[in-house]
Amino acid sequence: MQLKDSVIIVTGGGQGLGRAMAEYLAGRGARLALVDLDQQRLDEAVAACKSAGGDARSYICNVANEDQVSNMVSQVAGDFGTINGLINNAGILRDGLLLKVRDGEIQKMPLNQWQSVIDVNLTGVFLCTREVAAKMVELQSKGLIINISSISRAGNMGQSNYSAAKAGVAAMTVVWAKELARYGIRVAGIAPGFIETEMTASMKPEALEKMTAGIPLRRMGKPEEIAHSAAYLFENDYYSGRILELDGGLRL
Ligand code: NAP
Repeated sequence: MQLKDSVIIVTGGGQGLGRAMAEYLAGRGARLALVDLDQQRLDEAVAACKSAGGDARSYICNVANEDQVSNMVSQVAGDFGTINGLINNAGILRDGLLLKVRDGEIQKMPLNQWQSVIDVNLTGVFLCTREVAAKMVELQSKGLIINISSISRAGNMGQSNYSAAKAGVAAMTVVWAKELARYGIRVAGIAPGFIETEMTASMKPEALEKMTAGIPLRRMGKPEEIAHSAAYLFENDYYSGRILELDGGLRL
């Protein structure tokens, strides 16, 4: 698939990995629909994509809200005339242990802490993929859907919610690659390790240091390195149903 003039939706495109992937793809001539929650952040990301050489527009949309996702996809199709790709990148962290025992008292992870991550990181991916795939079939356009999973899909301490969602995302990648191939839609995943973004900057410095020491390449990944892989997945028409692991050799 050619990136030039392809229309690609990037959720969570206002900052971090989403913005880095959008800018990189814009530099290859793609036309970007950036989806996020904050207009100012989106305006900056749109400007960055345009100066990288691609067209871009912004859409405020909560990926966990069915009506908002459906409206956003219709708007993108109306604005650009087609859709050739989606990167399911929007995600949140709400880390915590399943149980903590303090002074003999058991503290449990609250249900809303579990649910908020499942809503965005798992249900959001389902909703965006369902709506985009349906629109692509309707418009008879072919292309690629990329799901951003994580090294944490293997099961990371303190991340019941996040690990469950990212494992689900990896499994859905395989399911949808099988189901959507007949419509000319490939589905692939990227499982980043620890990458330098606002999300990891919010982790405790001690935790970050400990994590970096365990990475065989002894450093965190850069957002551009994830973006480079996303471009590869778009351009390689035989890549589908698999998760590309980009983690510097780290195993949890
Ligand atoms: P980030 O810097 O926090 O960016 C995520 C973006 O998604 C933010 O702009 C965020 O907005 C937006 N977002 C959150 N909830 C949303 C929703 N319901 N609807 C629409 N947009 C929403 O995170 P990142 O580090 O770039 O991570 C991007 C993806 O890569 C995530 O799926 C993450 O799990 C995954 N990942 C990251 C790493 C890493 O090391 N950075 C490693 C493995 C996987 P707000 O800031 O307003 O919430």
